Amino acid sequence: MGTDGATATARVRLRVRGTVQGVGFRPFVYGLAHAAGLSGFVLNDPSGVLIEIEGTEAGISRFRARLAEEPPAMAAIDHVDVEVIPSAGSISFEILESSHLGAAATQVAADAATCDECLAEIADPAARRYRYPFTNCTNCGPRFTIVKDVPYDRPNTTMDDFEMCAECKTEYEDPADRRFHAQPIACPACGPSLRLLDAGWNRIAGDPILETASLVAAGRIVAVKGLGGYHLACDATNEAAVERLRSRKQREEKPLAVMVANLEAARALCEVGDVDAAVLSSRRRPIVLLPRSRGSNLAPSVAPGNRFLGLMLPYTPLHHLLIKEVGGPLVLTSGNHTDEPIVHHDEQAFARLGEIADAFLIHDREIHVRCDDSVVRVVSRNDYPLRRSRGFAPEAVIVRPFSRPVLAAGGELKHTFCIGVGERAILSHHIGDLATWEAMSALLEGVEHFTRVFDAAPEVVAYDLHPEYLSTKWAKGLDVPTKIAVQHHHAHIASCLADNGREGPVIGLALDGTGWGDDDTIWGCEVLECDFAFYRRRAHLRYIPLPGGEAAIKQPWRVAAVYLREAFGEAADELALDFVRRTRDEWRPILSMAASGINSPPASSAGRLFDAVAALSGLRDNVTYEGQAAAELEQIADPSVTIAYPCSVRDSEIDGVELVAAAAEDLAHGRSVGHVSAAFHNGLARSLVQCCRQLRVESGLDVVALSGGTWQNLLLLERVAGGLTEDGFEVLIHRRVPPNDGGLALGQAVVANSGLG
Ligand SMILES: [Zn+2]
Ligand SMILES: [Zn+2]
Repeated sequence: MGTDGATATARVRLRVRGTVQGVGFRPFVYGLAHAAGLSGFVLNDPSGVLIEIEGTEAGISRFRARLAEEPPAMAAIDHVDVEVIPSAGSISFEILESSHLGAAATQVAADAATCDECLAEIADPAARRYRYPFTNCTNCGPRFTIVKDVPYDRPNTTMDDFEMCAECKTEYEDPADRRFHAQPIACPACGPSLRLLDAGWNRIAGDPILETASLVAAGRIVAVKGLGGYHLACDATNEAAVERLRSRKQREEKPLAVMVANLEAARALCEVGDVDAAVLSSRRRPIVLLPRSRGSNLAPSVAPGNRFLGLMLPYTPLHHLLIKEVGGPLVLTSGNHTDEPIVHHDEQAFARLGEIADAFLIHDREIHVRCDDSVVRVVSRNDYPLRRSRGFAPEAVIVRPFSRPVLAAGGELKHTFCIGVGERAILSHHIGDLATWEAMSALLEGVEHFTRVFDAAPEVVAYDLHPEYLSTKWAKGLDVPTKIAVQHHHAHIASCLADNGREGPVIGLALDGTGWGDDDTIWGCEVLECDFAFYRRRAHLRYIPLPGGEAAIKQPWRVAAVYLREAFGEAADELALDFVRRTRDEWRPILSMAASGINSPPASSAGRLFDAVAALSGLRDNVTYEGQAAAELEQIADPSVTIAYPCSVRDSEIDGVELVAAAAEDLAHGRSVGHVSAAFHNGLARSLVQCCRQLRVESGLDVVALSGGTWQNLLLLERVAGGLTEDGFEVLIHRRVPPNDGGLALGQAVVANSGLG
C-alpha cells in the first residue's frame, strides 16, 4: 500500500488503555489493519497498547469503528486517545517488540472460560490437544490466578516451569495464530498434566479423568484442583454422598453449588431465563442463583429448604472433560472448612482437605492467587453480584483519579480489599471471613501481590470505623502516612455510586446487619444524604438492644423476644404464638440483660429486624450462617400479597416495632407465614419510600442509592425500587460489585480519596 499522491493518506496514533494485554489484542489489531489496507505498527507498552496506522481516511475510520465494536473476547477498552501525526511513509503493518519502560498501568485480565474454538479442539480426536485439560488461547484460560508479576509475560506466570515445545512455540510466534503470545499456551507434549491421588497421596493408576468419574459414581468425594483453587466434588444426585460431604465439611445448612454440563442440563434443575442463560454461559462463568424447578432428581441435602439453587457451567477443559464422563450434575463447592478461604496450594490441600476428600485430582500448574467462584443473581435483566471473584477480579472500576495510591482495608465478613491507583479502583478477589488465621494471611498475601502487580505502594489507607474488625486493627498498624476511617454505611452508598459511575449527592438507603456508627452505636438501617466526601444521617430504624451482642446475631429468638416486649410490654408473655410458648421460659435473663443495657448494645439493624420476624414466624430460632433467617423469610413470602403493615416514621425514626407488632397479631390470628412475610416486606418498603419522599422535599435530591447486605433480598429490593420509581425517583442499584460487605472496600477507597484534596 502506498503513500503516492493519488490517494489522500493520513497517519493516526491510537493509545488504547484498559485490559488489552494478554488477551489477543495485537493479532486482532494486525488483522484489522490488513483488512483496512493500512500500514503502521502495534506494540504493548506499560500504559496499554500503542497503535500507529497510516492509509486512506476511509480505511482509518473503518479500522477505528471495528476496534471499538469488535474487540477480542477478553479485552476491555477503557479509553482510546487519538492523535493525528505526520505521515511516516510506512509500507507494511507490523507487530513490534514490547516496551517495558515506565510504570505498568495495564490491567491484568480476569480468568476466562474455555472458548468454543478450544472446546472444539479438545473434542477432536485428530487434534493434538484432544482431551487435553489445560488447553487455552488468547481468548480464554487462566490469567489473574497464574500471574506472579508484571509485565504479563510467561516468565512472570506460574507457566514458567514449563518449556514450550517446538509446535507450541511456532503457534506462539505466529501473529496469525489464535495462540500468538498466549502466555499459558500448552499441549500434552510440553504443558501441565493431571494426576489422581488417593487420600494417602498415592497415585491411582489409569486415566485420571475416567478414574475420577468412577469414584464420583461410587459416591466418593474428590478434591479437584481447578483454576482458582480446590473444589470438593461429588455426585449431586447421591444423597448419601452429599450428606457425607456436608458432615465432613461441617457446613450444616448453606446451599452447595452445582455444576452442570450445559444449559439443557441447567434447565432440567432450574428455571433459566434468557438473561440467566447468557450470564451462565458468559466468559466469567459465575454461579448463578436460579429458582428450582419441581421434580428434579437432585439430592435433598444439596440445598435443603431453599427455593434457589446455585448453578454453574464448566469453565476449564478439565471441568468439561470431567462432567462429560460423570454424565450428571456435580456438587462443586469450595475446598475449605466453613468460612475459611479456598485452598489453592497442593500441600494445603493435603493437610486441610485430607479428612474431607477420598481422593485428589491434582495438576502441576501452580495457582498463584486463589480465586473462589463468583456468585450472581439476575435483577432487572442485569448481573447483580453477590460474590465478586473469579472471572471478575481484578477488573477495575473507573473512577475520578486517585490523587495518591489508596489501600482500602475492607470489612470483616465476605472480605475483599481495594487498591486505588490512577483512575482505577481495583477490588480484590473474595478473601472470606477474616475470623481465621488463614483468611488473615490470605489478606496479607493479596495486598502484597496487588501493590506489586499494579505498582501502587499505598500512601493512604482507608478502614472501617469498627474498632474490633481485624481489617481495622491491621490497617491502623500499617506504616502508611495517611489513615482515614470511613463509616460503614457511608462506604456502602459510596460503593454503589462508584459502581454506577456517579459521585452524588444522593439519598442513600444503607441496610445491613451491623455497622459501626459514628456515635459508637450499631447502625444497620440508615437513610443518608451523602456523596463521596460527606454524609448526614437523616433517618434510621428505631433502636433496640441486642442482648448478648454477637449471641443475639446467632440466636434471632433473643431479638424477637426484645421486640415483642417493646411492642406489647408484659402482655407479650401471653400472646397466643407458638414462638412465645416455645421460648418464653428463656426470656427472663435475656430481657433483664436488655433492660440493664449490660452487654446489650443498642442497634438500628435491618438484619436483626428480619431475624426477629423470621423467628416469630417459626422459621428459625437460631442461625448457622449470616443472613440465613432473613433469606428464609424472603423465600416464604407470598408475592401476591399487597397489604402492608404500618410502620410510621417520626422524628427521623422508622418504627420497626410496629411491624413486629402487626406480624405477631396476624400470626396469633392464624394468618399464613407467607402472608405475614409479604406484609412485613411491604410495610418496611413503604416506610423507606416515605423517608425518601420526605428527604426529597427537604434536600431536593431525587436519586436514591441502595446498598448493604439486606439488598440481597430481592423482594425488598423490588418493592422499594418499584415504589421509588413510581414516585419519580431515579434508583441506583449495584451492577458490578456486591451490595454486601464484599463491595465495601470500593466505597472506602473513593471516600478516602475525596478527602485528600
Ligand atoms: Zn481458547
Ligand atoms: Zn507444546
